[in-house]
Amino acid sequence: MKVFVMIGAPGAGKGTQAAILSERLGLPHVASGDLFREAVRLDTRLGREARRYMDRGALVPDSIVVRMIEERLDAPDAAAGVILDGFPRTRPQAEALDLALGRRGARVDAALYVGVPEEELVRRLSGRWLCRSGGHVYNEVSNPPAVPGVCDVDGSELYQRDDDRPETVRARLEQQLPPMYDVIDHYTTQGVLVAVDGGQPIEAVTDALLRAVAHPAGPGRSEAA
Ligand code: ADP
Ligand code: ADP
Repeated sequence: MKVFVMIGAPGAGKGTQAAILSERLGLPHVASGDLFREAVRLDTRLGREARRYMDRGALVPDSIVVRMIEERLDAPDAAAGVILDGFPRTRPQAEALDLALGRRGARVDAALYVGVPEEELVRRLSGRWLCRSGGHVYNEVSNPPAVPGVCDVDGSELYQRDDDRPETVRARLEQQLPPMYDVIDHYTTQGVLVAVDGGQPIEAVTDALLRAVAHPAGPGRSEAA
């Protein structure tokens, strides 16, 4: 089982890159935010619980997230591995993931940190558009669809997330960046952290990530150049 973890602030480009890597590496893209949004849409118990936190830009409690991801790891399509996007987001989540993978004879092969300056994050999120059916990601400035409001890939309608409004974005950054640095620290200690410069164009970020996953793990690497 190959396990890659995408780390980055809201708007850094985790989802965009995870979708590309998923195709290139033939591993499923598992995004905790997408799993929560699907549960909210279906109005399940998990969705109703998660929504209380998501609406305020807060993190959903660790126990809920960990249970959801563990279940996902046991799905048949995850047997060969996964690209985790948006999980782990706290140190306890990272520790729980280590245990869960250990029980399955696996470990995190690389933690891919996509770093982007904070002003750029707010800009990216305010222009983010997502498609209703497949979660394909666009940006009205940096990555526009061919026809405004329509997904290039599957023709479905594009929408903006409620939590991408500037006030919620500020709350998300304030509450989610400190625990993200704990997660970076966790994987730095393990020697599996790779930092790439997420301020580059999408294709350049992908190239840096693919170079990083092609090489075996080593401490303190940086593919930023
Ligand atoms: P973004 O792509 O903007 O980083 P996500 O779609 O990954 O946001 O997550 C949306 C929301 O779902 C988060 O703001 C948070 O409330 C919740 N969430 C997602 N993943 C986690 C997680 N690993 N731990 C706690 N909350 C999470
Ligand atoms: P995350 O999953 O980390 O929250 P997304 O992948 O959803 O981030 O990207 C956030 C927004 O930024 C989207 O509108 C996306 O199209 C855009 N974006 C992603 N990567 C880049 C990049 N390298 N340069 C410019 N815009 C980008």
